[in-house]
Amino acid sequence: MKPSSVVVASKNPDKVREVEEVLAGLGVTEVVRGLDWPDVEETGTTLEENAVLKARTVAETTGVAALADDTGLEVAALGGAPGVRTARYAGEDATYADNVARLLRDLEGVEDRRARFVTVVALVTPDGEVVTAEGVLEGSITTEPRGDAGFGYDPIFEVGGRTLAEMTAEEKHAISHRARALRALAARLRA
Ligand code: IMP
Repeated sequence: MKPSSVVVASKNPDKVREVEEVLAGLGVTEVVRGLDWPDVEETGTTLEENAVLKARTVAETTGVAALADDTGLEVAALGGAPGVRTARYAGEDATYADNVARLLRDLEGVEDRRARFVTVVALVTPDGEVVTAEGVLEGSITTEPRGDAGFGYDPIFEVGGRTLAEMTAEEKHAISHRARALRALAARLRA
């Protein structure tokens, strides 16, 4: 599969920014902006199902190959939760701050803070070809938020002594689950 242009199938501006920054570094394809599509409900039971569902819907609606990501935060002490429910951990309309607060509350007094971010990216063409790839970032959950950069759970996700929100965009992209998934996808497309 070698699409000459792709649309980033997300309405989350934080994600779109990160995906575009990483794609620019990979020099993969032209990113098409300004397209629209109906909201896609994430009804899948795995990250891969949701990523493919989003990419497929957007590719069919726009007629352009679509790249979607679905990300889950897996916390060891919570048996891998919130996982596919990461965006809605504190409720259907939860904000980033609500989710962070809920996770810190659930881990109060818990010593094992190990966690990992997992991203699955899916590229789907308008005629239904699908390629997926995964990226993982191991880290731990802090006891309070630190840093102003990034988004989502970044202020409480620590790697090597710093939270992702204490890193520059370049530093985060060098190690992040999303960037790793995109690099793996690019390698798969080149192969
Ligand atoms: P989804 O992939 O749209 O289902 O979003 C999952 C949720 O994970 C988002 O709402 C964010 O709160 C969180 N998330 C996704 N990627 C990141 C990241 O790179 N850093 C911190 N939180 C993230």
